[in-house]
Amino acid sequence: MKRILVTGGAGFIGSHLCKRLLDEGNDVICLDNFFTGCKDNIRKLLSNDHFELVRHDITKEYYAEVDQIYNLACPASPPHYQYNPIKTIKTSVLGMINMLGLAKRCKSVILQASTSEVYGDPAIHPQVESYWGNVNPIGIRSCYDEGKRCAETLMMDYHRQNGVNTRIVRIFNTYGPNMDMNDGRVVSNFIVQALKGEDITIYGDGTQTRSFCYVSDLVEGMIRMMNNSQDFIGPVNLGNPSEFTIGDFAKLVIKMTNSNSKLVYKPLPKDDPCRRRPDISEAKRILNWEPKVSVEEGLAKTIKYFEQKIKEFN
Ligand code: NAD
Ligand code: UDP
Repeated sequence: MKRILVTGGAGFIGSHLCKRLLDEGNDVICLDNFFTGCKDNIRKLLSNDHFELVRHDITKEYYAEVDQIYNLACPASPPHYQYNPIKTIKTSVLGMINMLGLAKRCKSVILQASTSEVYGDPAIHPQVESYWGNVNPIGIRSCYDEGKRCAETLMMDYHRQNGVNTRIVRIFNTYGPNMDMNDGRVVSNFIVQALKGEDITIYGDGTQTRSFCYVSDLVEGMIRMMNNSQDFIGPVNLGNPSEFTIGDFAKLVIKMTNSNSKLVYKPLPKDDPCRRRPDISEAKRILNWEPKVSVEEGLAKTIKYFEQKIKEFN
């Protein structure tokens, strides 16, 4: 049995990761400041003796004895990370330094939840790990993009300078149950709008693309990366290569929810990337990982989750 720290464990991805790690017989410390996460996501885990919930902010030091650290703490939705951009960059940079200090002291393996945003508005397609990206350093997305890029730099420098055992995964758009209904990301927005019969808000003309990965596939990839025996430190892309235009994705959600919602067009947020699709050859070759859940299958489960949430709120 390992003792595993999951920062951001009460968030969307973190809550699935905590559950899976507990199911595999580990001791899990879930650390969260509840900025975008919530107790509902982990309520069922609270009765498990091997689960410990800690309210803490990773911009402050944290001490525990752990074998592994999954560092997920950071708001992921653009409206949330732009709400307090200085806090967002502090979370990525100071938080990363604190977690790397912990990993160094405990000699634990640390995995950083990085992002496809390190590629910015990519000039090459699909995105490969060797691509250095096209990121605006002074725009409204920079607090997140540059924060995550700096976190990757810190991971590599602690690895080279201090021999810390690091792993970087670059996560592409992931969705599933436990996403916050109001967090403003495209999957939750479209499904909730469709289920409520409200207008579906397409930003821009809807020709920009994203590739959507179901959360159980992502969690499997993260765990394989953490435990891979080849000392492969990454960075490695984790995502589902099935790429949709946002317009087509809206139509798919309308079809799958049998909704009468209409499409409405809103201004495209500044620096919104035009295209995004992961090249996952590295993950396939080294981790023997690829997504198993089709977008239709994953969407059906997510729609069911939001139907239930909407009922609870009414
Ligand atoms: P989320 O917002 O649901 O979860 C983030 C969690 O971190 C929340 O529980 C939040 O309360 C917590 N948190 C934020 N700042 C903190 C701080 N300073 N100290 C302690 N806890 C803090 O987002 P998510 O979608 O679950 O994303 C998890 C991680 O994966 C993030 O680091 C995100 O950048 C990364 N990621 C996610 C996606 C995606 O599509 N979901 C894509 C790329 C990268
Ligand atoms: N988007 C949209 N309508 C919404 C929310 C998002 O058209 O209600 C678009 C957004 O402009 C972007 C894409 O959907 O092009 C994905 O947005 P999201 O916020 O989910 O994540 P991103 O990949 O941009 O970080």
